[in-house]
Amino acid sequence: MFTFKPSDSLGRIKPSPTLAVTQKANALIRAGADVLSLGAGEPDFDTPNHIKEAAVRAMAEGRTKYTDVDGVPELKAAIAAKFARENGLTYTASQVSVAPGGKAIIFNAFMASLNPGDEVIIPAPFWVSYPDMALLCGGVPVFVPCAMADGYKLRPEALERAITPRTKWLVLNSPNNPTGAALNATELQALAEILLRHPQVMILTDDMYEHLTYGDFRFATIASVAPGLYARTLTVNGISKAYAMTGWRIGYAGGPEPLIRAMAKVMSQSTSNPSSISQYAAIAALNGPQDFIAERAKVFEGRRDLVVAALNAAPGLSCPVPEGAFYVYPSCAGLIGKRMPSGQVIENDERFATALLEAEGVAVVHGAAFGGSPNFRISYAAATAQLQEACARITRFCGGLV
Ligand code: GLU
Repeated sequence: MFTFKPSDSLGRIKPSPTLAVTQKANALIRAGADVLSLGAGEPDFDTPNHIKEAAVRAMAEGRTKYTDVDGVPELKAAIAAKFARENGLTYTASQVSVAPGGKAIIFNAFMASLNPGDEVIIPAPFWVSYPDMALLCGGVPVFVPCAMADGYKLRPEALERAITPRTKWLVLNSPNNPTGAALNATELQALAEILLRHPQVMILTDDMYEHLTYGDFRFATIASVAPGLYARTLTVNGISKAYAMTGWRIGYAGGPEPLIRAMAKVMSQSTSNPSSISQYAAIAALNGPQDFIAERAKVFEGRRDLVVAALNAAPGLSCPVPEGAFYVYPSCAGLIGKRMPSGQVIENDERFATALLEAEGVAVVHGAAFGGSPNFRISYAAATAQLQEACARITRFCGGLV
């Protein structure tokens, strides 16, 4: 009998836990279970109509063929204009890459640059895919813990300690998935001062949640805060979160031309171009009206406040107030070691998340998946009524542990 043996590189990674939780929740829902799915991080809003219409137009006009591997010139121009308008960054078309999602951009960058043993510094908690992508490409993830007491922010001295001659990349992600922590210009400047002393380190900044910030927080990105780092920074962004277009799969980046060219080479032998239709939709998104983004961010802010207040009132949970993204990352340290009515012990956050799903039908992602325990991540990009119900169920679950 034939036995499939996966490659050694595949053996180094695991399936994406965020997608696994979502798929599990979807399967339960399809089977008729009453499940509230707060696992996936994607806006519950729909893609605005003017963007959908641009996609329909693109199809009607026959824009259904292969395009330039890393994006059509009109989209690259729209991206360059976005970087100039919103970030004060100048990128020419040859410094811009478009790929099927932010994930593909990051994967291409690692594939194009990592040699076996090259180190990738990843502040923890981190988005689940950074370490596994680095591993798949032969790199070595180097985790730098960021404490809840520090607002989950990377401290400059911790960064300094993590840098070695083998460091190839530092990954920054602000606002952060899963904690929602956001670095302001002063905090980025402090990190930049360290990085300026280590010219071998490239910076990959994942700015996917740029437009989802709350209160007085003002978004900043490292290449504009520290122009001395511009030449070795890859500024990654996408349309998924800002324009509610997760399924369209368009991510993009601005960066040094040789790296952008190398990323295109990877794409030319793997995915080829991202969907031509999605690219034309992305042009409409980036060049069209932007007002709805701030309006939607206000709605997210209201939901954040609701969820944070409810979780902090739940027995054994403690939830900081994040400044961005649409995640909260409460600690469940107060519940570890307690027992469910069935007698089962909540020995860690993974058990907590599984037990919560089984007992109350609330799907969340356990903190260990993001390298920060004992915590769990809730995506509050869901309808308010659903969030209220989820918080009530979580409170009941926590209150039932002894
Ligand atoms: N970024 C989202 C999340 O963390 C989408 C799922 C994924 O690709 O991980 O939930």
